[in-house]
Amino acid sequence: MTLAGHNGNLLGLNQEELENLAESLGQPRYRGRQLYHGIYARWIRNFDELTDLNRDFRSALEPHKEIIYPQAERHFCSRDGAVRYLFRLQDSSSVETVYMPDEDRTTLCLSSQVGCAVDCKFCFTAMLGAKRNLTAGEIIGQVLGVAAGQNMVRGARLNLVFMGMGEPMLNLPQVLKAVSILADPKGVGITLRHIAVSTVGILPRIEELALAPMRPKLAISLNASSDEQRSALMPINKKYPLADLMRVCRAYPLRSWEHLMFEYVMLDGCNDSDDDARRVADLLGDLRSRVNLIPYNSGPELPYRAPEFERVLAFQKILTDRRIPTFIRISRGQDIHAACGQLSLSIG
Ligand code: SF4
Repeated sequence: MTLAGHNGNLLGLNQEELENLAESLGQPRYRGRQLYHGIYARWIRNFDELTDLNRDFRSALEPHKEIIYPQAERHFCSRDGAVRYLFRLQDSSSVETVYMPDEDRTTLCLSSQVGCAVDCKFCFTAMLGAKRNLTAGEIIGQVLGVAAGQNMVRGARLNLVFMGMGEPMLNLPQVLKAVSILADPKGVGITLRHIAVSTVGILPRIEELALAPMRPKLAISLNASSDEQRSALMPINKKYPLADLMRVCRAYPLRSWEHLMFEYVMLDGCNDSDDDARRVADLLGDLRSRVNLIPYNSGPELPYRAPEFERVLAFQKILTDRRIPTFIRISRGQDIHAACGQLSLSIG
């Protein structure tokens, strides 16, 4: 197989585009729907396996079109069962995807960009800088590529989280196109309840997401309790300060089953005090929210450390006493640099 990004690659085309393709090759539009079903619901990669397509259509496709997954160049297995995949794309850039199996459901942490422009001070990906946006095909390819690598069966219970490399809101059209295929019952078939997009808070894009017909769940990467603190950790806060972020969160149209998720990376001595917890509680107030506390995953390149676990528990208690459901998330795959904020294409 050649690499993703090839302009004859059908991966990433939606149903309408495949119907148009069928028509352009002199076939009825329903042949495009069969192709869509084969690629996304049956995970087929060779036209030969699409035996429900007529031979004329297959022969017309074969010279110019392919179904190409990103190439899993390397993968690293953690003691805790997580696997970090390094996918190489056609232009030789790379992205990472993390597979995290659990008893009930497997989570895949997806990348939306090569590198990232946002420059959060605690994040290893930020050190790569901005490279480019991924295409919808490259995003879906991470899901199907990991599924193939792990010999997963169709219908496997999956959670997808856009918390890998990149800021998904800065690539919203391609992220939403990918989600529309991933969540389509006739496509990959992972329900929207099991797909989440995490953002630092690019407010115009959150407002755009609110209007999307197929909308994943929204997670906000909060990580601070005041503007001063947040601007130091996340310079984007100078453009979109906390008061504006909270105003947009309050206006966000939650579905009956949905909470706004707030991610809070805990940094020792930086954002983890009781006062921080009280200020976070004040910020979130009566929002229908959940908080995930993520003790920092340290590394030699950055000056931050995780707090003692007692500190994390004390922080959690202040929030839960204010009736804000708050969970402690210990990142998976720390020994393979796959944990939250650690994705940086390191190969050791
Ligand atoms: S935390 Fe996310 S948005 Fe911030 S620099 Fe890292 S990848 Fe980009």
